[in-house]
Order: sequence, then structure tokens, then C-alpha cells
Amino acid sequence: MEKQNKHTFVYWDRVFIALCIFVLIIILIVTGIKGIINAFTEDNKSVAVQANTGTAVIGSDQNLLVCIDAGHGGEEDCGAISFDESRFECDDDLKIALAVERYLKELGANVLMTREDDKYVGLYSRPQIANDADADLYVSLHRNSAETGQGVEVWVNYDAPDDDTLLAKNILDGLDKVGISQNRGVQFGYQGYDPTAKVNYVVNEKSFMPSCLVELGFITDDEDNKLFDENLDAYAESIAEAIVKTADELNIIEINNIDQE
Ligand SMILES: [Zn+2]
Repeated sequence: MEKQNKHTFVYWDRVFIALCIFVLIIILIVTGIKGIINAFTEDNKSVAVQANTGTAVIGSDQNLLVCIDAGHGGEEDCGAISFDESRFECDDDLKIALAVERYLKELGANVLMTREDDKYVGLYSRPQIANDADADLYVSLHRNSAETGQGVEVWVNYDAPDDDTLLAKNILDGLDKVGISQNRGVQFGYQGYDPTAKVNYVVNEKSFMPSCLVELGFITDDEDNKLFDENLDAYAESIAEAIVKTADELNIIEINNIDQE
């Protein structure tokens, strides 16, 4: 009996040590597999977005906050109206703004919207929203109007700050590549005033970060309206890409893969 007891004691002792080693090996294997799976899925995610957009992807370690301002809104402020009174600027502004938001998020940016539906937002509240959140870049989206005239122009502060001008130029270049009726260039100050008059759009005047105001074609021009409707997605994608490109060029973020085309 004594011999048998001793034998049993030694047997359980070995099983305990073997179990400990076994558990340790399992933990090591699981940790290793987790690491491999993580690396693989991160890689795949980047490639998928790149393939989709053909441009840079913001890494998960990077942080970019963009404020997108859909011009006008609500019954109080519809903005410009087409000659046949069938389309309102506030609706077009919201459509393009929501599409830009979607593409920016796809590229890995954080987006702050001044409005996401048809509601009135005060002119001074718009840049304030961006300032309060300490946004990195601010882009206001509008459509132009005139008795005659067509094309796209982008407005920045009359002082022509380098960063703001770069943002405006990148957006305009991108839209030009998609296809616009006329490139009216980067403009400084406020429509109808010489830059020396030192008058700005409120959104450019009051925002602390680099900003610009895009006039995405004339709502009073049939060709511009047709281009706007047909290219809405492509315009939005190019604006989102231009914003991310600018953020990289201004060293707000550092992106790994820049589209070289
Ligand atoms: Zn407007």
C-alpha cells in the first residue's frame, strides 16, 4: 500500500508540471496567431481602401479632424436658386457635403459637420463649431449664382495665407481633373470686392484653421447643374482626397501611400 501511494504522488506531480508547460505553450501559440491575424487584417484593410479610392489612407495612429460646412440651410436661408426655381443651393450644398463626409471617413479622417440635415445654422456659429473642436482644416461648400457665368472657384482669406491657398488649390486641381465647365481659379477676399478692400467671407475670417469656401459651379447655369448632378460622387471623392493630401503636405498627418498619378 505504501509503495502504491508513493507511486501515485509522483505521477500527479508530473501531470501538474506537464499541464503547466502545456498551458504556457497554448498561451504562446494564441498570442502569436493573434499577432499574425492583426497584421494581416490591417494590411488588407489598407489595400482595400486604396484599391477603392486610389489614394492615400490615414493610418490608425494618425489623427485628422476636418470640419465640413454645408452652406445655408433651413427655410430661413436657402441660398441661391436656379432660374426656374426648381433647385435650391442649400440642398446641393448638403448633398455634396454629406458625400465628402463619407469619402473623408473612408480615407480615415474624423469629420465634423456644421449641419447634416436641412436646418438653419448661423453664419458665425459655423466657424465657431470648428474652432471649439479645434479642427485641423475647414471647408465650406457652396454653389454660385449670377445672371451669366459658369465654372468653379475657391475663396480664401484676402491675405492669401499659404496654407489656405494650398488647400484651395488642391481642391480646385482635383475638381478640374474630374471635369468642370471652367476653372475660375483661387480667389481672395469676397466676391465683388478687391482683395485690398480686406473683406472676407465670415467662414474664412472667423475660422482659426486653414479654410476655404468652394463655389461648386453656378446653380444658375444648366451645364454646371448637369455636371454637378453627374459628377456628384467624383467631385466629393476628389475634394476628400485633396483635403487629405493638404493635411499631409501641411504635416498635420503623415500618410504612407500617396497616389502618384
Ligand atoms: Zn452660398
